[in-house]
Amino acid sequence: MNIAERARGIFPSQIRRITDRARPTSIHLGLGQPDTAIHPDVQRALADYLKIGRAPYTPNLGTNAAREAVAKHLKIDASEVMITLGVQEGLAVTLLGTVNPGEEVLVPDPGFPAYANLVRAAGAIPVGYSLESGNWGLSAAAIESVITPKTRAIVLNSPSNPTGAVHAAADLLQVLELCSAKGIHWISDEIYEDFVYVGSHVSPAESHPDQGLRIGGLSKSHSMMGWRIGWVTGHPDVIESLKGLHQHLVTSACGAAQAALPVALDVHSSHVDSMRRIFHARGLSLQDGLRQGGLECPDPVGAFYHFVHVPEASRILGGTIPLAEAILDHADVVTIPGFGFGTGGEGYLRLAYTVSDDLLFEAASKVASFVAEVVQRG
Ligand code: PMP
Repeated sequence: MNIAERARGIFPSQIRRITDRARPTSIHLGLGQPDTAIHPDVQRALADYLKIGRAPYTPNLGTNAAREAVAKHLKIDASEVMITLGVQEGLAVTLLGTVNPGEEVLVPDPGFPAYANLVRAAGAIPVGYSLESGNWGLSAAAIESVITPKTRAIVLNSPSNPTGAVHAAADLLQVLELCSAKGIHWISDEIYEDFVYVGSHVSPAESHPDQGLRIGGLSKSHSMMGWRIGWVTGHPDVIESLKGLHQHLVTSACGAAQAALPVALDVHSSHVDSMRRIFHARGLSLQDGLRQGGLECPDPVGAFYHFVHVPEASRILGGTIPLAEAILDHADVVTIPGFGFGTGGEGYLRLAYTVSDDLLFEAASKVASFVAEVVQRG
């Protein structure tokens, strides 16, 4: 059968590729999914939904209760909210719905691979923008250097997957001013907004509310990855204009997850406070283990990833893909090659600190000693 260019243009995810090779004994620092339990009140809401014995379609943009809960959470109006099947669908709807074929979309490099792939699926051209060396901060100069008359939108992601960096408010403002002057709208993936350990989260919606779309969800903050629940927020006219695309792609988000969403946002603040404490401590444990093994590792700042620079070992083995494969084969730890996040990630490994402290420490020492061995052997 003919496979369309749209499908052929999608690059398979390195994250899944490496994870699929794992053994039962492997320690997983690969997939970024919290191992923590869903809050008991949210579990109860999900169980209560089952007791109804039916699962009708919901309105396309989401139930009133779910839209109102997100609106209250973000201090906006319910007409500004579309409930989506996770952030992933939010990205698909916003990119397919606001970018024309042939236009260019700026995506962070290194960045979450879905951005470039979904831009390609929209028939548009992903153009990577580089980040400050050292802290992976936003750089208006780097962004300006890749803007052309065809640039339509910019994807922002803070805290970042894979770097764990959090954009400074002043840098973000500078970039938003630049984009606003050039008629470029922003699409902001804020899935890690509750995981900030140093500084604070700032959304582009705070200063430039009508020039972009904000995307969030419960996958990370409430460990609800499999429930596929998130939201897109923006000007009501834009939400209304994107409704048809969302409707014909997925109809609506999962009914049970929508029923649980207001409960999750009710317990949100205390729940994420404890999540933040747990993950910050884990970030420090992983950092400690890596440093004791002789690897440089930055302080945990945001999300739950360390992006660890291993230039020598990756050069010796021919890149971070063979290096991550060798680490899995010899040290039995799943790590993600930086190259999977764009050419800007080459020379780095992404390590997710989403497992318990003792496993993190064991994994860190195994990774560090394997990397040291590769470098020693030359
Ligand atoms: N954006 C980023 C940056 C992510 O890391 C992920 C998941 N790893 C997603 C979006 C997808 O989130 P969801 O489960 O809500 O679709």
